[in-house]
Amino acid sequence: MAQYVNLRNLKFLLYEVFGIESLTKYEHFKDHNRESFDMILDTAKQIADNLLYPTFREMDVQEPQLENGVVNVHPTIKKYLKAMGDAGMIGATYDYEAGGGQVPASVYSLASFILSAANNGASMFTGLSSGAARLIISFGNQELKDKYVPKMLSGEWQGTMALTEPQAGSSLSDITSSAKPLEDGSYLIKGQKVFISAGEHNQAENIIHLLLARIEGAPAGVKGISLFVVPKFREENGQFVNNDVAAGSIYHKMGQKSTPAMHLMIGDNSNCKGYLVGEANQGLKYMFQMMNEARLGVGLVGASIATNAYYASLQYAQERPQGRRLDEKDQKTTPQTKIINHPDVRRMLLFQKAVAEGSLSLLLECARYADLIEVTEGEERENYSLLLDILTPIAKTFPAEYGIKSVSEAMQVFGGYGYCEDFPIEQLYRDIRIASIYEGTTAIQSQDLLGRKLTMKNGAAAMALMQEVSKTLQEASTHEELKKYVELLQKELGRMQQVMQRLLGFAMKQEFELFLADANLFMEMASLIVISWQWLKQATVAKVQILTKNPQGEELAFYESKIHAMKFFFAYELPKTKWLATRLMDDEVLTLAQEQKEIIV
Ligand SMILES: Cc1cc2nc3c(=O)[nH]c(=O)nc-3n(C[C@H](O)[C@H](O)[C@H](O)COP(=O)(O)OP(=O)(O)OC[C@H]3O[C@@H](n4cnc5c(N)ncnc54)[C@H](O)[C@@H]3O)c2cc1C
Repeated sequence: MAQYVNLRNLKFLLYEVFGIESLTKYEHFKDHNRESFDMILDTAKQIADNLLYPTFREMDVQEPQLENGVVNVHPTIKKYLKAMGDAGMIGATYDYEAGGGQVPASVYSLASFILSAANNGASMFTGLSSGAARLIISFGNQELKDKYVPKMLSGEWQGTMALTEPQAGSSLSDITSSAKPLEDGSYLIKGQKVFISAGEHNQAENIIHLLLARIEGAPAGVKGISLFVVPKFREENGQFVNNDVAAGSIYHKMGQKSTPAMHLMIGDNSNCKGYLVGEANQGLKYMFQMMNEARLGVGLVGASIATNAYYASLQYAQERPQGRRLDEKDQKTTPQTKIINHPDVRRMLLFQKAVAEGSLSLLLECARYADLIEVTEGEERENYSLLLDILTPIAKTFPAEYGIKSVSEAMQVFGGYGYCEDFPIEQLYRDIRIASIYEGTTAIQSQDLLGRKLTMKNGAAAMALMQEVSKTLQEASTHEELKKYVELLQKELGRMQQVMQRLLGFAMKQEFELFLADANLFMEMASLIVISWQWLKQATVAKVQILTKNPQGEELAFYESKIHAMKFFFAYELPKTKWLATRLMDDEVLTLAQEQKEIIV
């Protein structure tokens, strides 16, 4: 079986960089230890090796089909749901009383990363169930919890997030699905939902939609949206009856074909019942819990696909002979060299390593903050919340946007073969493209970062982040070899400050178009700096390990490769901030819509 993850790297991040074992000192995680963490990763690897990786290609070719109202997905999905349910993996992070295992999010996210690297589309089925069940646990009443959560955690029932409507994609405030109160306390739901992942399929006994709709008479906009549990089959007098959620059509997607994306017709026969979760009109606020989790989940998907493609192209580059080295004097008679010896191929491989491992490091940082939010209180907890808030849009966007570039480079390493179906790269390339679109497009994430996260609580999140980066700079500066990179990052932080001052000036003057017009460029600049921070952190740990543990052979090479990848990212990627800053500081704005004339077409 080809390599699709490197457990050594996962454990380096988990234990050496982020010291996740230290979480076990808190009451909430006290039943865990390194052995139990390793066991969770091993379980994920086993399920991935046995069920997901072997069917990755097949699930793409045997795309789900809608026949007579039912969507047939690959039969392995049923086995996968059961295996994950039996292993307690779907609700692993939940509290014991909710049926979970109180596993740290840090460990769980690496388990999800392994599953997704093996078969990114298939792993979505359990990710969706996990997020949907958690919404019920967090905000639902006891009846909802008892009725739905156990079966979702066992893998018998599928969970979904049903937000998007034809006219309400990025703009969820325009949702029109309606909910009319009924005498029995439930609601009559009517509307259409589009692109609902796993929204219908034949490998789960029931499908539980966590659906946003407006109760009749609710205020317009986001303040009038409520959250409902809408099952495919509802229970009535001990019987399960059809709940009038029909599969209108299935989308034929470019990638991630294993997971059906459904157009759902809800309540066409005026017989769809929904059950209110929490309070009326609080739905979007509740849904943000699942959306924020899902954003980090999409980041993980991006990082995991890029990782799979990186190892595939690395192996290919080590085996493929082509051409001779640039410094080979005898170009005619010397045998061909392996393409990994060409500097340009090495550049593409280093780029992929830097993107994949840099992204994963940031995602794990976020998961660690989520764990610390769980176990701390007061100011400390507030600080971790701010950090998670500000980093979430970056942790969704960088692995998606740079992941796409990274898989493109993997394809380039394969040459013509990468473009053909003989190798999985073309599938990975199609699969990863969605990551910058769903769960809030890059534009929406960028506006969230610049327009909301930077300004909230008078810039408290940005300050908290600066303090975290400063800690890394301080630690790195004690090593001569790293001092140059400390200075480079410090310079970039200064540049960022200037850009922020200028952009926030527009916000103060209420010139919101000028403020947010190039939010995507700001996102890229911020991401490059944040990922550089993560790389400096990894390199510092690697440096300390080399100095204190005297590693040899493969271990030494592993640590050295970390320092080298950090240098690569600082040399090849971080300087892009200069161009981005030039653009962001420029007075001339070329993208604003003109009322009087249309200049694009
Ligand atoms: C494969 C797949 C799976 C999905 N799974 C789910 C799911 O399980 N559940 C669910 O509810 N939804 C799901 N979605 C929907 C997904 O979240 C939306 O497609 C996404 O939010 C974008 O909405 P849209 O497609 O309507 O595009 P639009 O919102 O119309 O956006 C089109 C373009 O305009 C830009 N744009 C829109 N508004 C703004 C703005 N205010 N400022 C700047 N630019 C803007 C966007 O960035 C984008 O480039 C899925 C989609 C796909 C394709």
